[in-house]
Amino acid sequence: HTKIFHSLRPSFSLPPPSQLLSATQFTLSLLHSTTTNFSETPFLINEVTGHSITYSDFLHQIKSLAFSLKKQYSVSKGDVAFILSPYSLQIPSLYLSLLSLGVVIAPANPDDSISELTHQIQLTRPTIVFATSDTSHKLPPNVRIILIDSQEFSSLLTQYNNLDSIGSDVVVNQSDIAAIVYSSGTTGRNKGVLLSHGNLIARVAAFRANDPFETGVKVQRVSLIRRPLFGSYRLLYMMKAASMGGTLVLSETSESEALFKAVQNYKLNYCVVPPSFIVSVVKSELTKYDLSSLKFVMSCGAPLGTEVIENFKEKFPNVEILDAYGLTEAGPVAAMRFPDEINKLGSVGRLVEVVEAKIVDLLTGELLSPGQRGELWVRGPSTMKGYVGDEKATAETIDSEGWLKTGDLCFFDSDGFLFIVDRLKDMIKYHGYQVPPAELEHLLLSNTAIADAAVVPYPDEEAGQIPMAFVVEPNKKIQRIAFVDFIPKSAAGKILRRELVNRAISDP
Ligand code: AMP
Repeated sequence: HTKIFHSLRPSFSLPPPSQLLSATQFTLSLLHSTTTNFSETPFLINEVTGHSITYSDFLHQIKSLAFSLKKQYSVSKGDVAFILSPYSLQIPSLYLSLLSLGVVIAPANPDDSISELTHQIQLTRPTIVFATSDTSHKLPPNVRIILIDSQEFSSLLTQYNNLDSIGSDVVVNQSDIAAIVYSSGTTGRNKGVLLSHGNLIARVAAFRANDPFETGVKVQRVSLIRRPLFGSYRLLYMMKAASMGGTLVLSETSESEALFKAVQNYKLNYCVVPPSFIVSVVKSELTKYDLSSLKFVMSCGAPLGTEVIENFKEKFPNVEILDAYGLTEAGPVAAMRFPDEINKLGSVGRLVEVVEAKIVDLLTGELLSPGQRGELWVRGPSTMKGYVGDEKATAETIDSEGWLKTGDLCFFDSDGFLFIVDRLKDMIKYHGYQVPPAELEHLLLSNTAIADAAVVPYPDEEAGQIPMAFVVEPNKKIQRIAFVDFIPKSAAGKILRRELVNRAISDP
């Protein structure tokens, strides 16, 4: 096993896998072990309205909601809850109460199209759906819906206010499935990633152990999370914040100006952003906002250029940059580079404690040594259980020994630092978000003017990558195209084709 790479970071302990424990119980036990006087600390703040809930509200809501859902809606262990909601102060309580009941949560992106959502619902087969008055029209007619923005839901959150324990009468094994999150995987079709309670527990523990506020900084951690809480990354980021007693500002925006404003208004000291955001900040003019509270910016989800980091440091010398590498199937954080590892710019840092890795030759399958490039395979307690309803894709992604093929071309240097060279898989990353090419190809092919199509990533400085399409047209096809400001037309609205012909000939 000399060519298996292990983390060189100090290790932390995880509960034994046989211990009965839900991800909710684990997260809240970390919170209780961190601090005892958190009850009046704000846990969540809505960036736009300024509304907030405290930790004591949060804990009450989880208990009341779990009890109400069980009693009034017979929600029980093994049910699947599909959740389609913009960001909201109630969502974290909903997730943790469902997890405490052993209900599988499937949080979806409210911006997804009806056809994508229909596909996700077919994959997950929810027994209940939580949506809002703005998102429920995207759902198929035959699902049972509870509206989160209704009076009824508000009362579920608060009606029982003197319950003492959470989910104490529900037996949750760490091997039970806890969540289904969506990912295009390595082949570009949308799939449901199955995560167990044990997976979430290992991820929260690893995520937290690598947080700079855990490893040194001892002030109240105030961070911001952009967009609704779908995807494994946001779900776990929220759980990590809760486990640390931190304050989390929920925000819809991805504009740099709005983020600066939030830093000033809420004294944020930690922000997680995609690299494209850092690029836009580096390019923008110096801001008029007071950013002095900001200590750390973590980049993740796509490659961050060395030059961008240098430019950022020049502009914001007091802000430290971290880089995290991970994937929905295996992390979401598998490696991290800390600010004091600045001499390893270009690397995504060292492996997170619970993850082991190997570099596999693309042709021979041989295990490679430091300095040699091959596909990165990872394994650990945070590795997903598989793709829901897709044994073939699961078997192609995880081998019999539990190694997960990341689809990334990588190497380790002799100090154990991981470098991502290229992406071998189909997935396109636009501003850090997954764009499965197969989905766009499907969309193009639904147009009768297109006979065949292929979508590939095209490099873009701001977005990281943009999707580019190659299309084949059927016989009646356009072979030349000109982009103009307007089409010349007669007073009666007829196209002046002759004029266009002359223009095309004189200016080919
Ligand atoms: P996702 O499941 O959406 O998090 O996408 C995971 C993929 O994004 C990885 O397999 C990489 O291809 C890419 N990725 C994530 N983080 C980084 C990073 N820090 N640097 C380079 N690529 C990254």
